[in-house]
Amino acid sequence: MRLRNIKGSRDIIATSPYVIHDIEEKKGKWNTVFGNDHPIYIEVGMGKGQFIIEQAIQHPEINFIGIEKYSSVLLRAIEKRETLEMDNIFFIRMDAEHITDVFDQDEVSRIYLNFSDPWPKDRHAKRRLPSRQFFDRYNKILKPDGVVEFKTDNKGLFEFALEEVVEAGWDLKAYTFDLHHDENMCKGNIMTEYEEKFSSMGNPIHKLIADRE
Ligand code: SAM
Repeated sequence: MRLRNIKGSRDIIATSPYVIHDIEEKKGKWNTVFGNDHPIYIEVGMGKGQFIIEQAIQHPEINFIGIEKYSSVLLRAIEKRETLEMDNIFFIRMDAEHITDVFDQDEVSRIYLNFSDPWPKDRHAKRRLPSRQFFDRYNKILKPDGVVEFKTDNKGLFEFALEEVVEAGWDLKAYTFDLHHDENMCKGNIMTEYEEKFSSMGNPIHKLIADRE
């Protein structure tokens, strides 16, 4: 997702109290940002933030961090956030390629990947967020009992992810090719913006949960 460049979005982001800057200095110290020791869940590629903001509303006992690469998209999440009273969510603007510079070993308890960009060309496979290269990065920041949860309607990307989990030495804890008709896996499901759009067009939603236990 890349929106038209919005004039001034960088300035708004630079001064927003909901966006954390100097992120490399926060490595190993994210609990001080929230002022408590609650578990930290992150969404990589949060888009306009619908999913992670709703998670934060429903789970005040968890700290959430939404990561997004593009200012124009992050701006939309900030606008939503500004209408809400809560203290358990912050945003970061960054390319997740550098995620290990920002979070320390065992600092994160859960990683959400939702409707990640497919990067269809083979030579770009390592840019896909559920690729083995990214699982190696997630391995460096996730607690031993932490999980990665990935949802998409893109069957090719999902099948790629199923293979990459195993190639990266992780385990498939659960998966389904039709989340919305899987009673167990759909329990408590929060729809992302893309999930609403593609499921309303009749596309089945695929989901996997990966861990290292
Ligand atoms: N997760 C949202 C949803 O399900 O509605 C948005 C999905 S959108 C297709 C993917 C988002 O991930 C885009 O906003 C894109 O800018 C962001 N993204 C892709 N690669 C990224 C990366 N390496 N680091 C941070 N954000 C990334």
